[in-house]
Amino acid sequence: MQPDFDPVTTARVAWDGGNLISPAFGDGYFSRQGGPAESQAVFIEGNHLVRRFDSLDSHDLFVIGETGSGTGLNLLLAARLFAERAPANARLALISAEKHPLSKSDLERALGLWPELAPFSTRLLAGYPPPTPGFHRLHLADNIDLTLMFGDALDMWQQQRARVDAWFLDGFAPDRNPALWQPRLFSRIARLSGPGTTLATFTAAGAVRSGLAEVGFRIERKPGFGRKRHRLEGSVPGAWKARKVRTGAALVVGAGLAGATTARALAERGWRVRVVDAGGIACGASGNRSGVVYTSPSGKATPQNRFYQSSYLHALGWLRRMDAEGCGIGRFNDVVQHITSARQKAKLDQALGSGHWPSSLLQRHDEFSVLMHGAGYLQPRKWCQLLLDHPGIELRQHEIISVAEDLPMLETAGGCHLEADCIVLATAAAVNRMDGVDALPLNTLRGQVTECRATAASRQWARARCTSGYVTPAIDGIHCVGASFDPRGTDQQPIDADDVANLEMLGKWLPRHWQELGGANIEVTGRRVGFRCQTRDFLPAAGPAGGVNDDRQLMFNIGHGSRGIAGTPLIADLLVDYLSQTPLPVDEAIRSALDPQRFAARRAKSRPFSAFPAP
Ligand code: SAM
Repeated sequence: MQPDFDPVTTARVAWDGGNLISPAFGDGYFSRQGGPAESQAVFIEGNHLVRRFDSLDSHDLFVIGETGSGTGLNLLLAARLFAERAPANARLALISAEKHPLSKSDLERALGLWPELAPFSTRLLAGYPPPTPGFHRLHLADNIDLTLMFGDALDMWQQQRARVDAWFLDGFAPDRNPALWQPRLFSRIARLSGPGTTLATFTAAGAVRSGLAEVGFRIERKPGFGRKRHRLEGSVPGAWKARKVRTGAALVVGAGLAGATTARALAERGWRVRVVDAGGIACGASGNRSGVVYTSPSGKATPQNRFYQSSYLHALGWLRRMDAEGCGIGRFNDVVQHITSARQKAKLDQALGSGHWPSSLLQRHDEFSVLMHGAGYLQPRKWCQLLLDHPGIELRQHEIISVAEDLPMLETAGGCHLEADCIVLATAAAVNRMDGVDALPLNTLRGQVTECRATAASRQWARARCTSGYVTPAIDGIHCVGASFDPRGTDQQPIDADDVANLEMLGKWLPRHWQELGGANIEVTGRRVGFRCQTRDFLPAAGPAGGVNDDRQLMFNIGHGSRGIAGTPLIADLLVDYLSQTPLPVDEAIRSALDPQRFAARRAKSRPFSAFPAP
């Protein structure tokens, strides 16, 4: 089934006294008799959350699903209660759909009504995503995350595979908002529920009651809140039992961007992580002096393009949360993308006109360029160092030569065996040189970055600029101009011709910058060769090595190409959720587009097959 990821339109709202109203739906977002009091009575008590949170043990997981997130009031109340009652190492995953997200300023005004919900509301606002379709993962606390799914509730929940313990069925009144109270959505809700899963809603409309009963919920009518006569509570027959979040010891092979982000995400979830790399931190393509944090916008909502967009936004979220700018390793003051071909212009025009790239993210800058808001540049090696600086992470220098058959175990070149509860291979193309691993279809693309001495004029450049390559502002008096792109190159040593080509490219697309950097007298101070590792379809191979049903606890995190800075944080969270058995941060279409087994599956499909024996 082809998922629907239409452009997202923000809600048009009105304020009526202290109440937030949707003129389009002719209904309010919360009760006039008190939003928090109604949410508490209907959704929190209706799902017996106090008792259930009190009953949680260490490492228990609790998942709440919601149909319309609105101001996030229900979610924030649940988060606050969880923080008060559940063990600190239990985990709450909140998942909520929203077709018309509030603008950030409307959300800010609404949340301003309930200062008692800080710090969760502050975190919600800090991580509140732009209105782009699909899943957005936010951190509300160390043990509480929120997946906001921007799109129609039925479409989004069809893309979700999480098992839900409690449902908040919240929308506008059923006669005004039938999409949220339709039988197909009820079926999906039932499908994602297990024994003892509960639901609660403010309405007691007959069709809602019978619709939920039909899909298997035992429904009870309860006294309503305020002026409402009744509300509903429901549960799936059977005893509810919390599932566990998995943790343990992890081995991450590779200390570049892929390995460092994965190690960090694992450590933050309580895994004990050993990172092994023969060359130390960021010794491969991740070790450049500076790199640009951006992505290439597209107007088409394919899983591939949506991965590029959401991983880029996710990366900006990580960089903000870890205060990369405050730590002095990057600046996120927008990136200028210069148009270098008619094809690229057409693609950018399409993206700008598609509704998938709101003006808060992408804007025309001038006739020959666009501005990507919030994008920037950083020092990848320092980013890796910052990521790996965590008490739960230790770094070892080993070359891994094979993955044992009786996993999870690795063998080093020195004959040592390293064991753990899971293994993540984040070694770029080196993975194909390891014994015991099915080879991935990978290409390596040689790239050379040219480092140039800043001049008085070039020191004034504030923003990174992309052409067919890029140039970054001065860091410690040095600019990076890069990177050459050679699919056949194998030379580990720098080549003079590549520096010439990099500077020619700068002169061709950014002649003023070329001139300010010294023109024909640009001083080259250094150069660095790296090998980008790319899969055949340009998406990383990320997930269980043998596909979703492979329970060997062996994960691939391979093939980020030249998009590693943007792509790796989302993949890190994806892998941690796979390993921890918690809800995934990406929709099903993106998950399967990243599945390392996709290449083998495509090969099997394309093999000639005949149902009839040859004559
Ligand atoms: N739960 C919210 C809270 O805590 O503030 C209040 C929800 S408000 C009454 C209903 C929400 O459902 C609105 O934000 C609306 O945009 C959203 N909505 C309406 N139709 C939808 C649909 N088909 N899919 C997803 N969300 C929808």
